[in-house]
Amino acid sequence: MRDIIKYPNTVLTTPTKKVTEIDDELIDLLDEMHAIMLEKDGIGLAANQVGVSSRVAIVHIDDESGIFEMINPEIIKKSGKTIDVEGCLSFPEVYGTVERFDDITVRFVDREGYEVEVEASDYLSRVMQHEIEHLDGGLFIDKIIERLSPDELIDYMEEHGYD
Ligand SMILES: [Zn+2]
Repeated sequence: MRDIIKYPNTVLTTPTKKVTEIDDELIDLLDEMHAIMLEKDGIGLAANQVGVSSRVAIVHIDDESGIFEMINPEIIKKSGKTIDVEGCLSFPEVYGTVERFDDITVRFVDREGYEVEVEASDYLSRVMQHEIEHLDGGLFIDKIIERLSPDELIDYMEEHGYD
């Protein structure tokens, strides 16, 4: 199984290439990304975080929202601003508050080849923006307003009503 690529590997800061064909290799990549995300307790993962520079990301914040496999995702609508805490599998032990759009509409292709549009808000919207930023070669660390230690993260999450 592929490893999570950690900062400062340049694959993380290189914009990924658009997918032109959904083939077996891509399906295998999606399945492997699921397995890696599950193993690492992640809620989102971009392909370049496992060393593949393709415009593919997966997001799974909870079972209620479900799993999103996003091939060639683009944010086509965005509104509002919100600040909340984020972490990243490529930056172990780094947490910080980041400003994101509140509501977004994302257009992508699913593994069956169908074009899908998803309206997302709250934490789902945030995680999708974080992953799409990875695909553009961006990193949340460049946007952190206030950095939190792992202990401060626990306090922050309690104060803000996370489980
Ligand atoms: Zn990340």
